[in-house]
Amino acid sequence: MQTQATNSALTPFKHKLTSPLTKKQITVLQINLGKRCNLACTHCHVEAGPKRTEELSPEICAQLIEIIHKFPQIQIVDLTGGAPEMNYGFKPLVEASRATGKQVIVRSNLTIYFEDEFGDLPIYFANHQVRIVASLPCYLADNVDKMRGIGVYNDSIKALQWLNQVGYGQQPDLILDLVYNPQLPSGEKFSLTPEQIKLERDYKVFLKEKFNIDFNNLFTITNLPVGRTKLHLERKKLYSPYLKFLESHFNANTVENLMCRDELSIDYLGNIYDCDFNQMMNLPAKTRSGENLTVAHLLAAGNLDLIDEVQTAAYCYGCTAGCGSSCGGALV
Ligand code: SF4
Ligand code: SF4
Repeated sequence: MQTQATNSALTPFKHKLTSPLTKKQITVLQINLGKRCNLACTHCHVEAGPKRTEELSPEICAQLIEIIHKFPQIQIVDLTGGAPEMNYGFKPLVEASRATGKQVIVRSNLTIYFEDEFGDLPIYFANHQVRIVASLPCYLADNVDKMRGIGVYNDSIKALQWLNQVGYGQQPDLILDLVYNPQLPSGEKFSLTPEQIKLERDYKVFLKEKFNIDFNNLFTITNLPVGRTKLHLERKKLYSPYLKFLESHFNANTVENLMCRDELSIDYLGNIYDCDFNQMMNLPAKTRSGENLTVAHLLAAGNLDLIDEVQTAAYCYGCTAGCGSSCGGALV
């Protein structure tokens, strides 16, 4: 679906909701281990890259491991970055989470397995039954290389074949999901993400016929106007029109399932946010008395459920447009 944006003023996101966006019980810890990455993609909301140095410290890593041990209510530990695998604490966090029976998700860019020191990752992931959520913003080479860099598509294909060989996408406990992001808009004709089920079918047919690749699920994720996507939109004078476009497709049915409602997003310094987008936009989560939270606070309180209301901003329209968007794809 393509739509031209209108010129009227944006409604504040909070006013669009019929009641405050409350937090449910926390069941997901999404840990952003840092900004180091072997790639520097045009749409990256983290603005990650090879020259970034920010990463998890041993002290914060130890606190996170304590949280993982202490709170059985955490069902999923979702590791992201940057390339999370490149950052300090990656393997200790995987192993602590698996030892306590939690599902571990790694948000992997696939190409990292071909860098020095990281060739063991496919086997390591399989041995620890890590669920892999891998970026492949299109099944066609040109679009991927345009967004992620020359040669990234070929490396991604080789990596997916490698993951299939070690059992991913083949065995029930080795789950391999792919992520689709739309191309960044270059003019005022914006599109929502295509229908997830139909696009998943297209990906599956194409990748199987052309490369004999199998995977489990495709997640369609909307580009939120955050990080490099925001910079791109501002350069093209499309930032406000894009937000207006997202607002015009607001779908109230997505609100119940927004990922911020049951997760804590944690940065490499141990600060807590309601989601990774808020983390990148420096909008911290707040306790009911208005305080910012850290991992140390959670440990001292012995409680993960200290937040009543999710902090929202205009870019939240990206999560609620059309079928909705989250780290796990469409919401409705
Ligand atoms: S989008 Fe992912 S792979 Fe690309 S630079 Fe950002 S963190 Fe790295
Ligand atoms: S950006 Fe999305 S996930 Fe984050 S607070 Fe807004 S609606 Fe929730």
